[in-house]
Amino acid sequence: MPDFITLFGSQDDKPEPAQEPEEKQGFFGRMRQAVTRTRESFATRINDIVASTREVDEAALDELESALLTSDIGVQTTTEILNALRNRARQQAIAGGAELRDLLKEQIRGMLEAPSQPAAEPEQPPKVTFLVGVNGTGKTTTSGKLAAWLRGQDRTVLLCAADTFRAAAIEQLEVWAKRSGVEMIKTRQGGDPAAVLYDAASAAKARGIHDLIVDTAGRLHTKSGLMDELDKMRRTAAKLIPGAPHEVLLVMDATTGQNGLQQARQFTQFAGVTGIVLTKLDGTAKGGIAVAIARELNLPVRYVGVGEKMEDLLEFSPEAFVDALVG
Ligand code: GDP
Repeated sequence: MPDFITLFGSQDDKPEPAQEPEEKQGFFGRMRQAVTRTRESFATRINDIVASTREVDEAALDELESALLTSDIGVQTTTEILNALRNRARQQAIAGGAELRDLLKEQIRGMLEAPSQPAAEPEQPPKVTFLVGVNGTGKTTTSGKLAAWLRGQDRTVLLCAADTFRAAAIEQLEVWAKRSGVEMIKTRQGGDPAAVLYDAASAAKARGIHDLIVDTAGRLHTKSGLMDELDKMRRTAAKLIPGAPHEVLLVMDATTGQNGLQQARQFTQFAGVTGIVLTKLDGTAKGGIAVAIARELNLPVRYVGVGEKMEDLLEFSPEAFVDALVG
């Protein structure tokens, strides 16, 4: 049993600023802003190719390949895109630079949309969502933002601080809970994460809470221990709530690019990941990693983190992303 439980906040309180960003921008505008750094390097090069290409030849495709690799789309995914475009070009089915760009957008969008299986929805609440991933990727921050985002959708939320390894994670989540006006259940540092989850799941069920968001630990140096712990948590959740966890979101830091993809593979193998949250998209020129994730992990990107504030979480849209990236 957790040593103590803290409950605060009221589900009647709306989160403070989450629903009213200082600057009201359209969704597409916010996505554009989030991928500014990637677009600056990528779209500029694409524009040059578009402007200089009358006939789509090997030189144009080489240029495109280099632009894709720089944005961290990755060798495998880039090769697939290039092969498809090369086939079209061979059949002389690409009229010029502008059409090449349209086809590129179509390719990338198709790749992002391919793994878009929806998350399982429980017949009865609560829906249980685990946030998993390596430390520092933004799990705790994303748990808080997600709680606020769901509150904005008129859903009731309970946060569970199951990263009991780090005292700071518990304190940090507490701050997010207060800000977003949701309740949180915690235990002391070093406490059993499965026990605190048991309590949180029981409370969420008893109170008919819509969403239980579980922030988990992510230390890497005891990988097998961590995976055992996640497994125990999965079993605990399933015992109390049929089908739980309904969603396991792997939080990935976009700034780590292809290295992050390697770490992600370990989690997807063991933790039953159903979707990705790609954080820190605002701070990187490697936004192309979203395409590599979808293609190589065959997992949908569900949300992107675009800053450190509560409202800086966007539901992912392949269309908006491709538009923001390629122009
Ligand atoms: P955890 O160890 O996985 O729980 O990671 P934290 O939630 O503690 O986040 C690590 C750092 O990343 C913190 O300084 C966060 O403010 C920062 N962070 C998280 N998400 C984003 C994001 O989308 N954009 C930016 N710029 N920073 C982020």
